[in-house]
Amino acid sequence: MSDFPYWWLIVLPVFFGLGWLAARVDIKHVLSETRSLPAAYFKGLNFLLNGQTNQAVDVYVDIARHHAETVDLQFTLGHLFRRRGELERAIRMHQKLLERRDLSETQRQSAQFELAKDFLKAGLFDRAETLLTELQNTDYARRARNELLAVYQQEKDWQKAIETAQQLRDESQSYQHEIAQFHCELAEQAFARSQQQVAQQHLNAALAENRQCARAKLLLGEIEQGCGRHQQAIDLWLDVESQDALALALIARKLLASYDALGRGEEGTLLLLRLLGQYPELDVLDLVYERLMAQRGLDAAYEFVREQLKAHPTMPGLRKVLEAHLLVAPDDQKYELEIIGKLLTEATREQTLYYCSTCGFKARQYFWHCPACSEWETYPPVRGRKNRTA
Ligand SMILES: [Zn+2]
Repeated sequence: MSDFPYWWLIVLPVFFGLGWLAARVDIKHVLSETRSLPAAYFKGLNFLLNGQTNQAVDVYVDIARHHAETVDLQFTLGHLFRRRGELERAIRMHQKLLERRDLSETQRQSAQFELAKDFLKAGLFDRAETLLTELQNTDYARRARNELLAVYQQEKDWQKAIETAQQLRDESQSYQHEIAQFHCELAEQAFARSQQQVAQQHLNAALAENRQCARAKLLLGEIEQGCGRHQQAIDLWLDVESQDALALALIARKLLASYDALGRGEEGTLLLLRLLGQYPELDVLDLVYERLMAQRGLDAAYEFVREQLKAHPTMPGLRKVLEAHLLVAPDDQKYELEIIGKLLTEATREQTLYYCSTCGFKARQYFWHCPACSEWETYPPVRGRKNRTA
């Protein structure tokens, strides 16, 4: 007992005392901060924390009304309204901000930019475009151009999209893939109007931007084919193999048509068989099966799909084998086989669609420009495959 260090009895209270003092100082500091803010702020904050966004907005709108000097709060509210999809309120808030005489130049530009974004979200593209164009020579120029690029793509105004992307181009982003695609879009428009020469000019411009643009080469081949120059078409298409072999599936049927037109149909079939051997994922199984059936008969077609299934077992491959087997099966087995075939078709329906590798949007037709997320070249040219680089 005599070993007990009595000096602790003095030191401990001193420590507690210091802690109490520190806490007091902190609380005093917080209290003095609090008194400088309107109590309604905290009321609003409380609503936000409880997930009662509507009430929070009402409180903040009220503060904004009574404290006209709170420019930042009006910006925040505008932003909040837009995020919640209350576009009319967002637009009104930003328009009111723009009417103020006491805004600095930067604040005015910021309000104009935010208003343009409201219009964009509301689908009022022409009004957004006007506001964004006015911001060209300000600190917001780059951000405005970025939004304008989105507007022009939405409106399919590819010429303006090209000009804007060229203005945006810098060391960090070349936009060469996008610009090449914009030229391809213009080429498709011209092609649809039978303006072959204009289409060709755009495709050459696309290739000048991006030498690896598979879409431009595929389209150039189609123009050659349309003019009856089948060998040139074949050469252009086969040139795609070195950069994006799987994209050949998109024109495989046309490729065979050109071989047929030259009286070299068998050569076309052999070419597809060779490509399939090299790129097992090449999406031409149905086409080659159909082709072999027509040229060499059922046995050759059946043998082909069986070999394919053995080398690369896939559900679509299995479905094809069953389809061929059904044709040679004895009558008493056909009923069951047909049921299996139906179930298999049902189960593999998802694998007959193209998938955007960015947003997952699925479509029956192939897209170079995703209609859902507006990204370019995100669809693998293989049905059922969800990742472009897999
Ligand atoms: Zn997408």
